[in-house]
Amino acid sequence: MPDGQTRWALVRGVALRGENGRAYRMAGSISDIHLQKLAEEQLVHDAFHDKLTSLPNRALFMEHLGGALGRRATNRRFVFAVLTINLERFHLVNDSFGHAAGDELLREVGDRISRTVRRGDIVARIGGDQFAVLANDIGSEEEGLRIAELLREAISAPARIGNDAHAFFPKVHIGVALVEDHDSKPESLLRDSDNALHEAKRSGDSAVAVFHASMHSKALRTLKLEADLRNAMLTRGIDIHLQPIVSLADQRLSSFEALARWVHPELGILLPEDFIPIAETRGLIQQVSLRTVQQACKVLKKWREAQPERPLVPISINLSAVQLANPALVHALIERAQDTGLPPDCLRFEITESVLADLTGSAQQSVDELRNAGFQIMIDDFGTGYSALSYLHSIPCDLIKFDGAFIRRIADDERLRTIVQHSIELAHDLGMKVIAEWIEDERQLVILRDLGCDYGQGYLFGKPMQTGQAHEMWLARGEGDRD
Ligand code: C2E
Ligand code: MG
Ligand code: MG
Repeated sequence: MPDGQTRWALVRGVALRGENGRAYRMAGSISDIHLQKLAEEQLVHDAFHDKLTSLPNRALFMEHLGGALGRRATNRRFVFAVLTINLERFHLVNDSFGHAAGDELLREVGDRISRTVRRGDIVARIGGDQFAVLANDIGSEEEGLRIAELLREAISAPARIGNDAHAFFPKVHIGVALVEDHDSKPESLLRDSDNALHEAKRSGDSAVAVFHASMHSKALRTLKLEADLRNAMLTRGIDIHLQPIVSLADQRLSSFEALARWVHPELGILLPEDFIPIAETRGLIQQVSLRTVQQACKVLKKWREAQPERPLVPISINLSAVQLANPALVHALIERAQDTGLPPDCLRFEITESVLADLTGSAQQSVDELRNAGFQIMIDDFGTGYSALSYLHSIPCDLIKFDGAFIRRIADDERLRTIVQHSIELAHDLGMKVIAEWIEDERQLVILRDLGCDYGQGYLFGKPMQTGQAHEMWLARGEGDRD
C-alpha cells in the first residue's frame, strides 16, 4: 500500500485457451481477505499468548526452549538459563482487593520482568502466578544468578494498583536452571527450574535458588520412597517398636510408647523422620496410624491372653497434626481401637504441643472426640512450642511430656531446673502427671525425681524395642499404671 502497510488480497484467475493451446481470454477476481487473514493471525497469536499480559504462554515458551536446546546441540558454547518466577501470596491480592486489582498486578509484574531482561531473552506467563524467562547466551552460572537478582529487585519494588492506588509489595521466589546437558528436553529444563523454585521456598530465607543435580535425585528418592510406602501399607511393612516409660520413684514399668518402624526391603529399618513427613504430605499418615493402633492393640490382647490376671500397661500412640485437622480420620482411629474390645485406658494419644496449644475448629473436635471415647491425651514435646505455662490450664490433656531438648541440659542449667520445677508443680495442681523424655544418665534421673517428675523415658531405661522384648520387660518389671 502507498502508506507502507501490507494488505491481504486473494487473486484467482483462469485462462480460456484456443485449439492451439494459447490463452485468448482471462477471467478472474480479486477478493479482499485482509480481515479474514488478520483474524487467522489473531487466532494463532491467541493460541500462543497469554490474554492478560500479552506475553508468550507456556506452549510458546516450550517452543523457544526447544529452539535454544537445538542451538546448543550445534554450539556447546551457547549456554542459557531457565528462570521460573513465582509471585507469592498472590491469591491474597485477589481475595482482598478483587480480581481487577489482581490482574493489574500481574500485568505490572509482567512489564517489570520484560523491562529487566536483556534483549533476546524470552519472557512468558506459564501459570496463574508464575512467569518464566529464557535467558539466552549467558556466559556462566553467575550471570544467570545476576539476572535473577535483578529480577527480584525489580519485581519487589512497591507497586501502586487499583483506583485507590494501594501500595503492594510483591514478593517472589525465583528458581534458576542452567542448561548443562545438551540432550535435556524442554520439559525437564522447566521441571529443574521449578525444583529450584521450591527449594528457594523451602529454605525460607533465600529468594533465589539454582537447580543442582542433587535436587533431582532427592526428588526422585522421595518419589520412590512414596511408592514403596504405598506398597508397604499393602504388605503390612510398617511395624511398631515399644519404648518403656517408667515411674521415677521406683523405676517400675508404667507404660510404653509405640514408635513406627519401617523395614524397607532395600534400605533396612527406617526411622519415622525418614517416612512420616512423606506419609503426612502424600496422604498416607492415616494408614500408618491405623496400623500402629491395630498393632498396639494386637500386642496388648496377646499379653492379656497370656497373663489375664496381670494388669496391662497402656501404650501411647503419636498423632500428627494432619490427622487432627480431620475429625473423620480421628473417628476412624477410635473405631479401629474400639473394635478390638480393649478398654480405652489401654491407649493414650500423644499430640505435639504446638497443635494442642492452638486448638481451633476441627482439631478441637478431634480432641474432644478422643477424650469422650475415654482415651487419655498427652502433650508431647512440651516446652518446644509457644505455649507459655499460663496456657497450661486451657490445654485439654491428662499428661505432659517434657521435650528431650530440655532434659539434656537440665544437669547444667539451673534456670532451666527452676522452670521445669514450676511447670511440674503447675501440672500437678491442674491434676496432670508429668513425663520426662530422653533421660540418658543417672544424674538426670535423680534431678528429675527430686523435682517431683512422675515418669521417665529414655535410653537409661530402655531403647525402643521389639514387642517380644517389651513383653518380657512387662513380665519382669511391670505392674501397669493407669492414671
Ligand atoms: P517423639 O514422640 O518425641 O518420640 C521420641 C523419640 O525420641 C523416638 O524417636 C525415640 O527413639 C527417641 N528417644 C527416646 N529416648 C531417647 C534417648 O534417651 N536418647 C535419644 N537420643 N533419643 C531418644 P523416633 O522413634 O525416631 O521417633 C521420632 C518421632 O517420630 C517421634 O517423636 C514421633 O513424633 C514420631 N513418630 C514415631 N512413630 C510415629 C507414628 O506412628 N505416627 C506418627 N504420627 N508419628 C510417629
Ligand atoms: Mg511421642
Ligand atoms: Mg517427644
